[in-house]
Amino acid sequence: MILVVGGAGYIGSHCVKELVKERSVIVLDNLSTGHFWAIDEKAIFIEGDLRDEKVVEKIFLSYKIDAVMHFAANSLVSESVNNPIKYYENNVAGTLNLLKQMVKHNINNFIFSSTAAVYGIPKENVITEESFTNPINPYGKSKLMIEEMLRDFQSAYGLNYVVFRYFNAAGAHSSKEIGEDHEPETHLIPLILQHLLGKREKIKVFGTDYDTLDGTCIRDYIHVTDIAIAHILGLDALLYKRIDNNIYNLGNGHGYSVKDIIDMCERVTGKKATIEYESRRIGDPARLIASSKKIREQLGWETEYNLNKIIETAWEWHINKNLNKILK
Ligand code: UDP
Repeated sequence: MILVVGGAGYIGSHCVKELVKERSVIVLDNLSTGHFWAIDEKAIFIEGDLRDEKVVEKIFLSYKIDAVMHFAANSLVSESVNNPIKYYENNVAGTLNLLKQMVKHNINNFIFSSTAAVYGIPKENVITEESFTNPINPYGKSKLMIEEMLRDFQSAYGLNYVVFRYFNAAGAHSSKEIGEDHEPETHLIPLILQHLLGKREKIKVFGTDYDTLDGTCIRDYIHVTDIAIAHILGLDALLYKRIDNNIYNLGNGHGYSVKDIIDMCERVTGKKATIEYESRRIGDPARLIASSKKIREQLGWETEYNLNKIIETAWEWHINKNLNKILK
């Protein structure tokens, strides 16, 4: 049985959808940002907070857990700058609590969601796992602290782990049942699509004076189901001892500017966006593009969704979203 902490959230719920095809799954989520309706019906759901030792311990005493996947975290960069306590408490202390219980109950396999934010402002155009880590905000720092904790837990307690550093997760499940649904929404693709659906007046572009071809920031967008598949491969490799203690970037290896994304959204939806140009958003690096060569070579990961398909699935989800919410 696999414990998925944060299985009601955006990336967690997509991973649960893949996991339940082959395994028994138990989801622990406090529903602070995740949604009950996003949890696959085949999974057992326990509402609770990972900072609550009793809840976590009860799960480990009641079920035979083979591995833990941990998606539960706060992940807004600007919020982390203004409220670092929240990030060190929920992300770092919460994970420490989970790991402590895992050690106590002799559960040795752990898959952790990290982020491209650990690289800060990278020097390289294409980032490898060996690139220098130097996070520039408490969110990125909180994730890097956990990565370091994992290294220490490995040498002291024999914990086996895989860390995935996500670049820009986007898109929605092909079933149209689940997709990206944050409140408040801060991510580019859902904001553009909400605008094109008439739910927002305009789309703001943060910064036009970056050192890029069109002056806007470049990001590497990766479909959430491709991320989920990476987790399945990582889990199998961990359980069957084909790898241990590895860190992998998850991205498509292609960079798209904010303007490219708006153009593609217009093309997919057949609608025209109203754009407002603003100054830079604090903490945004100009360019974040992943090399995912390592996971492709070591685990045979292949991505299925290019940018066009990412935006198509996101658009279908946005159109169906309200209907889904009513039906659930
Ligand atoms: N962005 C933008 N307008 C928005 C939201 C985002 O121009 O309303 C830009 C943002 O500055 C960044 C890119 O879009 O360069 C991707 O931002 P997002 O928040 O989606 O992901 P991040 O890269 O910050 O994790």
